Amino acid sequence: MTLTELRDSLHNCQRCKLAGLGRTQVVFGTGDPQATIMFVGEAPGYYEDRQGEPFVGAAGKLLTELVQSIGLSRSEIYIANVIKCRPPNNRDPETDEVDTCKPFLLQQIELIRPKLVCSLGNWATQTLLEKKVAITKVRGQAFHVRDFVVFPMLHPAAALHQGRLQEPLREDFRKLKIYLDQVSAAESIPTAPVASPPAQDTQMDLFGT
Ligand code: SF4
Repeated sequence: MTLTELRDSLHNCQRCKLAGLGRTQVVFGTGDPQATIMFVGEAPGYYEDRQGEPFVGAAGKLLTELVQSIGLSRSEIYIANVIKCRPPNNRDPETDEVDTCKPFLLQQIELIRPKLVCSLGNWATQTLLEKKVAITKVRGQAFHVRDFVVFPMLHPAAALHQGRLQEPLREDFRKLKIYLDQVSAAESIPTAPVASPPAQDTQMDLFGT
């Protein structure tokens, strides 16, 4: 299956209840289908649902600025969400919705084959690390998972809602730049384990604050 075929297979997807809870469209993902670096957020918000693209609202603008601050452009990366349809009133995704939609994110990652997946916020981080870890404890570090490296970061929306998180978010991107520079110096992203996610942590909230 190609990425386009996967996208087409999700057009008007009815596999979970979010299909009938007011979504405008499935927000599959956007960017370079052969990107080395992928960013994964939680779920589409209002503007993403309307435009059919992830991270196009204020949080998207901040993400674009931060990506550019480390010398990349959005056209060089791939951006997707764990959940492809907007939950009503931007509520948290529910377990059955994550369980139903997560395989499509994993298929997306398999097809794009990024070496590095930056998980934005708690939901994406927990989904990709497959552990209930607090983003505050794992952010800015690289973890080897499956065939790629997960690099958890704070969610840009969290920094917009809570100004005190703006500097920590920028710090995450500075650490990402340092990591990418180290990898570049070593000529390839390491395939050996980088770190193991810590044991389960139940002290969670949406943005891991
Ligand atoms: S959230 Fe995922 S599984 Fe649910 S309807 Fe949308 S694409 Fe399908």
